[in-house]
Amino acid sequence: MAAEVEFQQVSKIYNKDTVVIPGIDLKLPRNELTVFVGPSGCGKSTLLKLIAGLEEVSDGKILIDGKDVTHSSPSQRGIAMVFQSYALYPHMSVYENMAFALKISKTGKDEIDAKIKKVAATLQLTEYLDRKPRQLSGGQRQRVAIGRALVRNPEVFLLDEPLSNLDAALRVDMRIEIAKIRENLNATMVYVTHDQVEAMTLADNIVVLRKGRVEQMGHPLEIYNNPVNKFVAGFLGSPSMNFINFTADETENDFCTLKGPGVLSNVKFKIKPNTLKSGDTACIGIRPEHIDVQKGLAGAELEFKTYAIENLGDHTLLYGHVGESPCVLKVDPYTKYSMDETLGLKIQKQHYHVFDTQDQNVGDSANHPKS
Ligand code: ADP
Repeated sequence: MAAEVEFQQVSKIYNKDTVVIPGIDLKLPRNELTVFVGPSGCGKSTLLKLIAGLEEVSDGKILIDGKDVTHSSPSQRGIAMVFQSYALYPHMSVYENMAFALKISKTGKDEIDAKIKKVAATLQLTEYLDRKPRQLSGGQRQRVAIGRALVRNPEVFLLDEPLSNLDAALRVDMRIEIAKIRENLNATMVYVTHDQVEAMTLADNIVVLRKGRVEQMGHPLEIYNNPVNKFVAGFLGSPSMNFINFTADETENDFCTLKGPGVLSNVKFKIKPNTLKSGDTACIGIRPEHIDVQKGLAGAELEFKTYAIENLGDHTLLYGHVGESPCVLKVDPYTKYSMDETLGLKIQKQHYHVFDTQDQNVGDSANHPKS
């Protein structure tokens, strides 16, 4: 049975004054996969260890399935954890590694055997059950680590950067494998990664963290398309969203025009009412694939100066500036561009964001008038 995981005003302070989690309220839905993302050191692993009971909270409560487990031992919490380092017992075979926790919990021999064989078949480990970890590849070791957790039928399955020790091709295979395991698993999963492709593809919910605080929680596409602030906007997407600085020129209740270096025409952007005033510094957030690029400036909104070009086969990235702001464009690979070329840009009006001086998203491209 899957369980809901809840943090109620949980804080974690190391060594009396290192505040890592200042006080978090968070509910991780039952039977869904929630991914924690955020820059290194923002507290992702700490949150996982707090759920697992490997670290004690400094204050607040942790509830699993409505039950207060704040002071319960890890073994009483119905969780299983997979670590980045695999943490397999080197002197035990794959079978013994997978059996270990079940033996400790006094599961019968036949039941252990049946569980291991079932999970080994799912993970394509059947032929390796007698091998020691050192006789396995990195990908196989990681599968054993996952299998060892799966045989325990956890209510909550915690994964801490499980794929980061694998090479790029294996990561893709394992990512797809985890997605498949997930479909057949009745467990709440919490997954820590700094890989945004894993976050986008595996998550039902993404929690974006900064300095131990939740910046935004939502479905991956919700976070991608409607980031609440500049931090979240810049975190997902590769290359990341462009932020082009301007000054608000004319503003009315729900639109503004912008001026500044690189602006060629008085384009109106929709904003939430009463957010920007004339003279405010503002910034347009626009993803590289949402900018139309033209040779020459006739009819263009912004002027772009190219300083580097990367041809990646299926698309080309043009690096340059609009005014002083760095800007990356994603363009078709067949048009020829050159260094130091001046190009005209138009922003696709269903995809922009406007950020105010506090970095909050005050734009409203969803309501931009259709032209
Ligand atoms: P993340 O997983 O997001 O990279 P962590 O949760 O591992 O971040 O760490 C968050 C912060 O807590 C970091 O600044 C780290 O140095 C600090 N930290 C983690 N464990 C300890 C510890 N045992 N003692 C002191 N500081 C710690």
